[in-house]
Amino acid sequence: MPEVQTRNPGHRKVVMIRYGELFLKSERVMQRFIAQLCDNIRLALAAEGIHHAITTTRGRIFIDGEDPDGIARIVQRTFGIVDVSVCLRTEPTIAAIAESAALVAPRHLSAGMTFAVRARRENVPGFSSQELAAVTGARVRAVVPEASVDLDQPEYELFVEARDTMGLVCEQRLTAPGGLPYATQGRVLALLSGGIDSPVASWQMMRRGCAVSHLHVHAGPWGGADTKGVAIEHHRILSTWCSGFSIPLHLVDATPFYEAITERIEPRYRCVLCKRFMLRLGELFATENQAIALVTGENLGQVASQTLVNLAAISGSVQIPILRPLITYDKQDIITIARSIGTYAAIHGDLKCRAVPRYPATAALADAVHREEEKIRVPDLLTAVRAHTRVLHALNGKIREE
Ligand code: ATP
Ligand code: MG
Repeated sequence: MPEVQTRNPGHRKVVMIRYGELFLKSERVMQRFIAQLCDNIRLALAAEGIHHAITTTRGRIFIDGEDPDGIARIVQRTFGIVDVSVCLRTEPTIAAIAESAALVAPRHLSAGMTFAVRARRENVPGFSSQELAAVTGARVRAVVPEASVDLDQPEYELFVEARDTMGLVCEQRLTAPGGLPYATQGRVLALLSGGIDSPVASWQMMRRGCAVSHLHVHAGPWGGADTKGVAIEHHRILSTWCSGFSIPLHLVDATPFYEAITERIEPRYRCVLCKRFMLRLGELFATENQAIALVTGENLGQVASQTLVNLAAISGSVQIPILRPLITYDKQDIITIARSIGTYAAIHGDLKCRAVPRYPATAALADAVHREEEKIRVPDLLTAVRAHTRVLHALNGKIREE
């Protein structure tokens, strides 16, 4: 590994990554996922022009580079990672680890506070993890004498590890999103609106390891003036969660469809027909993108079109599986995620759909739906609308038109 000096002579900093659920896999699958995770980390750091070196060992990935705190902030957004620590690296002996702990602890711990040392030992003979914790704890108390140990609910936890190649003392630990490495689970096509839910649904699938493509259906004069712009902004923001991978957005102008449903069908069926039409478009673009399933931000009972009966009627329009990761979420929980991933802040302006009737049907039965659809020649509309598609690629938070 390249040498990286810090202000403390004799100490080098290293970024340590822990991944979670990959342990549930067979050895062969786990190795493939770890390789993909390392590739994804490399892509994310390369996107920021950061030189680095990655090494893997049992259960951990280490990154050396000039700016460990900056590296940690970037890889903190990589799916498949549970947490990211910036560590002081030292010799894998109790004495060396305790000495480094004595440097780190006073920056976080002051008189009157409680702390606990959490120690691990991996392939290092001669002492136990309890001994490592006890000696390190005593050394910390020597430098912060009025701090006391509380193993159950400490105000400060100090993580230390003795591994065969190095000793580690964690300076800072950041929580990462967990999930599975991006692009290990096949591709989905997510229907992206200008609202709160659908970007969260797309993000959830990315977090679960799916590569995503996006579809936004623009309702022309019936759509809110800002809807398309916000959807594109969601698309751009989501690309910052898979740096190095380009996400295509199929942007469809569906004005002829909205003309048809506002002129020719019973108003209360508009929402269900609209969602069926969007899914059909989704199915067409999914085939083009080699996507295996569609994703929506639908949520049981949230709006009139999302009753169980309506969701069944909507699902019946396509053959391809439809994934609805938010189906059971409360709105507030979705908002909390939208805030934390950055898409909530993009929502602004006029997003109101003018095609929504005053009283949408809450129990659209198949017969009625088919009767209404016969009035508007759905296959012809699909062909006409599909011809008006643009593709916008988002890569590393930047948009490029095809
Ligand atoms: P959202 O915040 O996702 O807009 P919502 O509660 O407003 O959710 P609806 O407008 O009924 O719900 O939409 C349900 C789902 O249909 C959305 O989550 C999204 O996946 C999809 N969808 C809605 N509008 C569009 C659109 N204009 N283009 C593509 N997909 C859309
Ligand atoms: Mg919406």
